[in-house]
Amino acid sequence: MADCLFCSIVAGDIPADVVLSTDTVVAFRDIEPQAPTHVLVIPKVHYENIGALGAEDPALAGHLADAARQVAEADGIGDAYRLVFNTGAGAGQSVFHVHGHVLGGRDLTWPPG
Ligand code: AMP
Repeated sequence: MADCLFCSIVAGDIPADVVLSTDTVVAFRDIEPQAPTHVLVIPKVHYENIGALGAEDPALAGHLADAARQVAEADGIGDAYRLVFNTGAGAGQSVFHVHGHVLGGRDLTWPPG
């Protein structure tokens, strides 16, 4: 999609620290990490948010969840990590290409802020 930051990362037009790439999913380290592990997992195809992805391609949503597991295990946090999908500007979403934040490597409090 034109003017989408994460589509540009998928296309290789903007550099990213990619840790996993499959036929359908890319994972790369967040540019402003909020934890020792902070990786974004995204589908290569553009969907605005996790609701749209889940409704239109639930199998791909499953691939995203499994990519998050692989990323967490590769970083040694497979036993304790958080997978967050901010959905809508009011919930903190700032990039409107669905992405799961894989967070871990420190104590994560609940409820989140
Ligand atoms: P959200 O606020 O949930 O939409 O998350 C967007 C995330 O994208 C933020 O955590 C940003 O730090 C991250 N981000 C923005 N630009 C880049 C980039 N070029 N490479 C990696 N992460 C980015």
